[in-house]
Amino acid sequence: MLGGSTSHNFMMYVRGNKEDFNRWSTEDLGGDPQWNYENLLPYFKKSEDYNGNYARDPASAKYHGNGGLLNVAKYDFEPGADDFLAAALEKGYAIGDYNGATQEVFSKVDATTQDGWRESTYRAFYKDTGKPSNLCIKKYAHVIKINFQYVSSHPKAVGVTYKRQGVGPAEHLHSLNIPLVRIYLLGKESKTTDAGQGFLKSPVAQPNYVDLQLIHTAFALYHNFLKTLITNARFAFVVLGRPKSFGKLMLASSNPDDNPIIDPKFLTHPDDVEALLYGLKKFVDLYENTAALNTPLFHKPVPGCENKAFKSDDYYRCVISMFSFTFYHHVGSCALGKVVDSHLKVMGIDGLRVIDASVIPRLPNGKHAGCTIMIAEKGSDLIISNHVLVLLTRANSNFKAHFHLF
Ligand SMILES: Cc1cc2nc3c(=O)[nH]c(=O)nc-3n(C[C@H](O)[C@H](O)[C@H](O)COP(=O)(O)OP(=O)(O)OC[C@H]3O[C@@H](n4cnc5c(N)ncnc54)[C@H](O)[C@@H]3O)c2cc1C
Repeated sequence: MLGGSTSHNFMMYVRGNKEDFNRWSTEDLGGDPQWNYENLLPYFKKSEDYNGNYARDPASAKYHGNGGLLNVAKYDFEPGADDFLAAALEKGYAIGDYNGATQEVFSKVDATTQDGWRESTYRAFYKDTGKPSNLCIKKYAHVIKINFQYVSSHPKAVGVTYKRQGVGPAEHLHSLNIPLVRIYLLGKESKTTDAGQGFLKSPVAQPNYVDLQLIHTAFALYHNFLKTLITNARFAFVVLGRPKSFGKLMLASSNPDDNPIIDPKFLTHPDDVEALLYGLKKFVDLYENTAALNTPLFHKPVPGCENKAFKSDDYYRCVISMFSFTFYHHVGSCALGKVVDSHLKVMGIDGLRVIDASVIPRLPNGKHAGCTIMIAEKGSDLIISNHVLVLLTRANSNFKAHFHLF
């Protein structure tokens, strides 16, 4: 799909905690300053055209860009978000721009949207910019192999092998002789939903680090969608931004068509359960014990947890184990400092860079599209500066040749 996951993600624009990026620099890249927060901020700003909740707030100005290709806006449909923020104020939480000076705040959510429509990377960086002529996109091209040559017994990536296959209208694919993988039925209606969110520090967080994200949401009322459940319901997600459990990704076979084996090992570190427990209780307190929300926890025990005392710590621990799911922020399979160097070059191989979410060495406490776009901006700068350096070196060597001739 053009635009990758930005064409079907939740569109929340949440960069992450400053300390995440500082740790990339200090702990993953041995103190390389070019990957600390201060030096990465210009790359976040470069792609941004900020029209979000804090666009008129002078305190936020230094953290946001204007005139970039990616529109960051307010959600256009946000019932309940004002109540959520009023409740947060009642409880003494600060309100502010979570992509600004400090992340430990509650806020409405900024989103990658444009006039109420999804602002995918395809739309922002390709379609709406007049389809740049120096970019060639091969649709339905599934890369199955990177081709290497040995130059002075050193491996160098020289190209890729791909095969054509696709997802789309069956007749069209058949007419092009492209094997069909899957047909998607796309709904006609598409509208953004609301959200409010807050960031908290759990007792098991690392020092100076906010590890929890509380998301409050209501769903848009599409025809036949959650019709029975939606009346007077509010939804809350507690997100552990920086889990201590690590998963594993392995190849199932040497056949590129076989799916890899992904073992996420969710909640295998006990701190992850304790952090979520803390967040869950804070959330219930916010909903139940504020005038603005005044909403009791739905009194129907989660299946599998009926034998625990309702709302006890053990009940919540059980809920966490029965009811958790991923927000699809998988990173680290080509981590900075382990697989790629600070120039995003695969270590030990010439001619190969990785520029996507897989280079993120540790999860930022946020959502990762903004962070991946920042890495892409940084990566394109690295490529350009490398190229300019090569040209200069060539120009210099020509100049020297001329100099010697005279
Ligand atoms: C359901 C969901 C909700 C999310 N919500 C949010 C959110 O609200 N906010 C946020 O910031 N982030 C969110 N994310 C995460 C975010 O979208 C991703 O972290 C980000 O898009 C990763 O970018 P990427 O370029 O690394 O990978 P992707 O966006 O996944 O793009 C990879 C692309 O490579 C293509 N590809 C893969 N293998 C091959 C191959 N062999 N040959 C050719 N092409 C290939 C894929 O088809 C895809 O187009 C969400 C993700 C999901 C899945």
